[in-house]
Amino acid sequence: MSQVSGNIFSIQRYSIHDGPGIRTTVFFKGCPLHCFWCHNPESQKSEQEIQVVDFRCIECGLCIKNCPNDARKIVDDKILILKDKCKLCMKCVSVCMSKATEVVGREYTVEELIKKIITDVPFYKRSRGGVTFSGGEPLIQIEFLLECLKECKKNNIHTALDTSGYGTWSKFEKILNFTDLFLYDIKTLDNKKHKKATGVSNKIILENLNRISERNAKIHIRIPLIPNFNDTSKDMEEIANYLKKIKGIELVELLNFHQLGYGKYKNLQRQYLAENLKPIKDERIKELSEIFIKNKFNIKTR
Ligand code: SF4
Ligand code: SF4
Repeated sequence: MSQVSGNIFSIQRYSIHDGPGIRTTVFFKGCPLHCFWCHNPESQKSEQEIQVVDFRCIECGLCIKNCPNDARKIVDDKILILKDKCKLCMKCVSVCMSKATEVVGREYTVEELIKKIITDVPFYKRSRGGVTFSGGEPLIQIEFLLECLKECKKNNIHTALDTSGYGTWSKFEKILNFTDLFLYDIKTLDNKKHKKATGVSNKIILENLNRISERNAKIHIRIPLIPNFNDTSKDMEEIANYLKKIKGIELVELLNFHQLGYGKYKNLQRQYLAENLKPIKDERIKELSEIFIKNKFNIKTR
């Protein structure tokens, strides 16, 4: 098996929201986008990080005492990591008895990851499920992703790729034959707005969507619904009209904004730019979903 390895920050078994059936969702670390509402801040950076889970900290001070770089400190009754001083030596992780200091991201070989995935084959078979590679953006670890997909196919496991669509076409070409389903994010068709909210243009994302569709890919479109960003009828009508021209779309999912990422930003000592946003009301989600139903799409909301 290939010796290439990848950085994974979470492996979620028995997942039921990332494609058909019961699935294992593997979260890749690293993303080229910086969506201001992102609820997985631990996915954004490619490299390993450490974080402090506040409620587990018993303030024993062992991390401060054992840090060789003077990078741990108490500020306002909180144990902080001074990121400019931290050299990621992980000493504080090993001395923290209450597991409040954690490593985010771990290197897996293809073999290690596939071994974990294979454990749940009976569940995949019974439920017509499989594995979903998510993130972050899995395409930024393309060689690792490709090898994992190939191994899954060798083992007759259904594969899905949860992608922002932001990557070179050559990356998509490599994985197309080993990917049974694309969970493809569309945020807005307004390129100016897209750039401002995510840091990148949507041009390449839309081009790739057209191209995978021409290659007969099966596609589930995922639209994150973000208050004051893309929650108008006009936004959704534009997207629905665009998607009508794309073949292979089996489902459109409208994903309501939520605040579940809030604590994670705190643990990582990062600012959460969507802190004051509230989820969109159910009635409004229903109204927006009608736009897609009217255009004959299968729709799922959550
Ligand atoms: S070692 Fe762990 S529990 Fe002790 S102060 Fe540091 S983070 Fe808190
Ligand atoms: S990882 Fe090492 S350098 Fe960074 S805070 Fe912990 S002990 Fe200090």
